[in-house]
Order: sequence, then C-alpha cells, then structure tokens
Amino acid sequence: MDLLWTEDDERFRTELRAWIDQALPKLPPATKREDWDARRARDTTWQRMLYDAGYAGINWPADFGGRGAALSEQLVFYEEITKAGAPDVGVNFVGLLHAGPTIIAEATDEQRARHLPAILKGEEVWCQGFSEPSAGSDLASLRCRAVRDGDDYVISGQKIWTSFAQVSDYCELLVRTDPDAPKHKGITWLILPMDAPGVDVRPLRTVIGSSEFSELYLDDVRVPVANRVGAENDGWRVAMVTFSFERGTSLVSEMVEARRQLDELVKVAKVVTRGSATAWDDVGLRREIGHAAAELDALWNMVKRTVSEAARTGVPGVGASVVKLYYTELIQRIGDLALRVLDRASLSLDDVFEHSGHFVEERLRVLALTIAAGSSQIQRNIIGERILGLPR
Ligand SMILES: Cc1cc2nc3c(=O)[nH]c(=O)nc-3n(C[C@H](O)[C@H](O)[C@H](O)COP(=O)(O)OP(=O)(O)OC[C@H]3O[C@@H](n4cnc5c(N)ncnc54)[C@H](O)[C@@H]3O)c2cc1C
Repeated sequence: MDLLWTEDDERFRTELRAWIDQALPKLPPATKREDWDARRARDTTWQRMLYDAGYAGINWPADFGGRGAALSEQLVFYEEITKAGAPDVGVNFVGLLHAGPTIIAEATDEQRARHLPAILKGEEVWCQGFSEPSAGSDLASLRCRAVRDGDDYVISGQKIWTSFAQVSDYCELLVRTDPDAPKHKGITWLILPMDAPGVDVRPLRTVIGSSEFSELYLDDVRVPVANRVGAENDGWRVAMVTFSFERGTSLVSEMVEARRQLDELVKVAKVVTRGSATAWDDVGLRREIGHAAAELDALWNMVKRTVSEAARTGVPGVGASVVKLYYTELIQRIGDLALRVLDRASLSLDDVFEHSGHFVEERLRVLALTIAAGSSQIQRNIIGERILGLPR
C-alpha cells in the first residue's frame, strides 16, 4: 500500500476532526473506573453518535451496516479518535472488534439482521466466554457442556476471565457438544443471552483493583439451537475466525495510544529532575525512548499490512500473531522505561506530579496483555509452526 496520505485521506481527516470537536463535548464526562453502568452508558452513547454520523463499524463492510472505509481511512479514523481521547470501542470491544466480525463471516442472515445493527447502534454489548479454569492456552480442552433438548441446548459449566460480563447483553460462548469426539471436533460456538435464567456473573479483582473481568457460572441455561453460529461441533473453526480478528486489528487503537503516551513520556522526562539535571539529560534513557519510538513506528507499518490483509481477504491472517506478540512485549518494555523516567514517583499510584500515577497504573495494566487473547508463548508456537514451518 501507499504509505503517504492522499488528498482524500486528508479531507476525511479534516471532516472527522471537525465532527469529533463538536461531538465529544456532548458526551458525559469520563466516569469512575468501577461505575460500570455509567461506563456502559457513556460508551454506548458514543457508539450511537458514531452511528448517526456514519462512522460506526469503520472497517465493517457497507453491506452489513458498516462504513466499509478504505484501509487508509480506517487508520486515519483510529488515529483521530485515539488522539482526541474519545471512548473508541470501550466496554463493547468484543461486540465491535470480534463477535460482530465473526457474525459477518459465519452467521446466518437472521442472526446478522438481529445482532449487527444493534451492535453498531450501541444497543448490544457483548462479552467472550471462551476460557475456563482448566482451559486457557489449551482452549480445546474446554468442558462447559451443552446438551441438545428439543429446540434448545441446555448448558452447564464455568467460564473465567470474562471481560465486561457485568455490562454485557450477549456472550460469544464455546461449549462442548460432543464429549466423545477428539477435543477440537466436539465444540460449538453459541450466542448466549446474558439475561437467560441460570447465568451467574461473579466479578474478580485485578492487580489495579479493577473488576473488569468475571467468573461466569452456567447452571442448566437454555439457549435456542437458532443461536448457534456455524454447524454443531464446528465451533473450533469458528473460534479461529474470532481469534484472527481478536489478535489482528483489535490492538490498533492501543498502538496509537502507545505512541501518544511515549510523546507524553518525553515531556515528563524533561521535567523530572535528578540532582541538577533532568531525566531527558540522560543519554541512555533518551536512546531507549528513541528506540521504542522507532519500534512503534515499524510495528505500525506491520499493522497496516495486517489491516490491509483483513481488508483484502475479510479475515486477518497469522501475521496478526506477530503484531500481537511484538506489541504486547514492547508496551511492557515501554512501561518499564516510564517507571525509570519517573524514578521515585513510580512507587505511587497517586499523581506525584502530573499524570505520573497514570504511567504506574498503565505499567500494571499492560502486564495482562501478554496473557490475554493467547499468551506470548502461544503466539511463538503459532509463528514457529504456521509462518516459519518449524516442526511442532
Ligand atoms: C486482561 C485479560 C482479559 C481476558 N479476557 C477474556 C475474555 O473476555 N474471555 C475469555 O474467554 N478469556 C479471557 N481472558 C483469558 C485468556 O484468554 C487466558 O488467560 C489465556 O488464554 C491464557 O490461559 P490461562 O490463563 O489459563 O493460562 P495457561 O494456559 O494455564 O498458561 C499458563 C502458562 O503456561 C504457558 N503455556 C501454556 N501452554 C503452553 C504451550 N503449549 N507452549 C508453551 N507455553 C505454554 C502459557 O504461555 C502461560 O505462561 C483474558 C485474560 C486476560 C489477562
């Protein structure tokens, strides 16, 4: 692709910026992290505003209600939204970034008509019920059972690490429908309404005190067979489609934000003093910040390739694993660098000076990124086997 912005791209950027400038002040202010109802209300209000302005589902095909934007427009969109500090996908990242795209790729026309417009309008929030206490990296060993009973599946089992479950309307759920088949062959992908009787959400606490993910207990929950996406026992293949979206394009906004934070870090380095000098006077730290900026730029070009592949084929390929692995490890190194710049201020989550607490909280938050959506070790296995052709 052409790496320079065209006149059309710049025109799109100007229009979008003007729209964001007038739209953002109409949103209620950002709320406390643990006020889940308010967070959902703010994020879905923003989604509705995007929808009304024709920006919702920027990368979704126009046939399914999205904007069907050209690749370069998508990247301009992510940049401008993130730079402006707008909520982006917020609590509905599952719906917008991978459940919706999986439904586009794999679901029936009825399922698409039922869910896609509602996701785009901010009326439906989704979560992901894949992991279980003894099925994370080895997801195919999942045990949550679904037994056919007439026109329903009856589901019993436990899921864990379900992000934003407490504010979700639906869950993309993997269940075992054939316990006797080889483990990859007996799994089915279902749409679970979170208000179905027998669904119990129990929030967990993260290291920064957030309850952003939960345990999900399912006790004889009835889900209509009509909520199945793909064939019975073909859920593993459908889940791989979901993963390719999850690992491929969903980190794009994170990366724009990382670049912005690195610029912030430079500003901070210029004011943190050590004796008579500032952190920025330290040649070693300056070199590391420069390296990190160069790595982020290089990675951004790999993102363009992944997004471009997704735009061409409809689904990002295994290159998404390279982006996921590199970005999540880089952002942790940048987090370490930030703590060294902050020096003693890194010992406190409170703002010792402007925004210092935010850098400390971010360092803790990004710890989880090398585990979420497939750990670094698993990405290395995928890259080794499927890109480099190494033996298992
Ligand atoms: C922030 C966050 C949000 C999440 N949100 C969701 C969600 O919304 N829905 C959901 O379903 N899940 C979610 N998860 C769960 C996530 O998908 C799992 O944590 C992840 O798949 C790893 O599984 P595990 O935690 O069971 O670790 P394990 O699979 O037990 O792995 C433990 C360690 O062993 C290593 N390991 C395991 N197998 C291999 C192997 N074959 N080769 C080399 N090393 C290996 C792993 O890399 C890891 O270091 C979330 C996780 C996090 C951190």
